Amino acid sequence: MSEHACYDILIVGGGMVGLTLANLLRDSGLQIGVLEKFGPKAVTDEIDIRVSAINRASLNIFKSIGAWQQMAARAGVYHEMHVWDTTGAGMIHFDAAEVGLDALGYIIENTVIQQALQHCTEQAENIDWICPATIKSIQLEGESGQLHLDDGRILQCSLLVGADGSRSQVRAAAKIEFERISYGQRAIVCTVETGQPHAATAWQCFTPEGPLAFLPLVNGQSSIVWSLEESRVDAMLALDDEAFCRELEQAFDYQLGSVKLASVRAAFPLGHGHVDQYVQNGLALVGDAAHNIHPLAGQGANLGFLDAACLAEVIVQSHKANRQWSALHSLRKYERARKGENHLMESAMTGFKLLFSNNDPLLSTVRNAGLVLVDQAPLIKQQFMHHALGAD
Ligand SMILES: Cc1cc2nc3c(=O)[nH]c(=O)nc-3n(C[C@H](O)[C@H](O)[C@H](O)COP(=O)(O)OP(=O)(O)OC[C@H]3O[C@@H](n4cnc5c(N)ncnc54)[C@H](O)[C@@H]3O)c2cc1C
Repeated sequence: MSEHACYDILIVGGGMVGLTLANLLRDSGLQIGVLEKFGPKAVTDEIDIRVSAINRASLNIFKSIGAWQQMAARAGVYHEMHVWDTTGAGMIHFDAAEVGLDALGYIIENTVIQQALQHCTEQAENIDWICPATIKSIQLEGESGQLHLDDGRILQCSLLVGADGSRSQVRAAAKIEFERISYGQRAIVCTVETGQPHAATAWQCFTPEGPLAFLPLVNGQSSIVWSLEESRVDAMLALDDEAFCRELEQAFDYQLGSVKLASVRAAFPLGHGHVDQYVQNGLALVGDAAHNIHPLAGQGANLGFLDAACLAEVIVQSHKANRQWSALHSLRKYERARKGENHLMESAMTGFKLLFSNNDPLLSTVRNAGLVLVDQAPLIKQQFMHHALGAD
């Protein structure tokens, strides 16, 4: 097949962030292409093991593009959050009511988010969904990009957006440096049934081996994200279901009683990294293509949605003002707005990981005292909550 197509904006990566960006550009008057290698998995009755904690800011973005209605039925609300250190008495409790809200966030399957977002793009006349598609080469010249696909198609664009995740091909083609630093950990994810109800609460404990979260799903089950050192992960995955659940109950201090496995188990490598350059002439990076963080506070995708919202706003505003919207000087506004915020979150997550994954008795005393102190300081707690909700 040989075909030539021209777009104003070509987004490589139709994951959660790329699709959000496409939807935010629906009314821009620009022609958009979303190029995706595989596309989202089908949504089935069984809850998928990959889920995301979606904060207030992301919820507002989904509502603004009309995607929320299609996710709401599969969204597990959490009104409260309970965090504690298993090595001491330190704990902290967050309640949406403390900041005058009805919910702190929602736990939603990634496939449900992607399907809803993709469905919204189908309604838009200015968005082409190019999937499945494999890129053979990317050429970047000044303010235009040209992609050659392996089936012979050639795609041209004024702005190329890399929304293609942590191993971004767009980032590599633009020669933007990125070093992903491994935490030497992987996160085991699976779905479980618990003896006691999850009480619409997101539960997270810090064990010396790594953080363990029980996230409330819409059907009463819980989604597990258990970060462990590499060597422990292999041993945990090798256990039979019964033995694995006993380990899980124990690590979780039996907070929700007995645990029964309700899905397969899978493990994902954890690392962090950040590009220095988000934009070039005719090029921008969003989401995991620009930054990777530890999932302990469930913020990675939320940061990506804010990248998408910011980039869309910058493009729409300069396009409306008849400025060179794809030029470096216009795109810099996006970089300036997002880089500092994303850096801060990356550093905070690495700091938390170092502070809590540690057996040092002195450090344990200090962090437990810190948790108790913050729990009793309403103003500091509200600051934490505002930040986690994306309210800033
Ligand atoms: C265990 C775990 C738990 C997490 N929990 C949370 C959470 O609770 N909340 C949260 O906010 N974040 C969470 N995250 C982080 C979150 O999953 C990521 O930040 C998010 O998926 C990034 O989205 P993205 O669209 O930028 O990239 P990706 O999800 O990686 O999507 C990239 C897309 O691009 C496509 N693609 C890649 N290369 C190409 C190519 N060359 N051509 C065409 N298409 C391509 C891929 O197929 C994919 O669809 C978690 C991460 C992990 C590992």
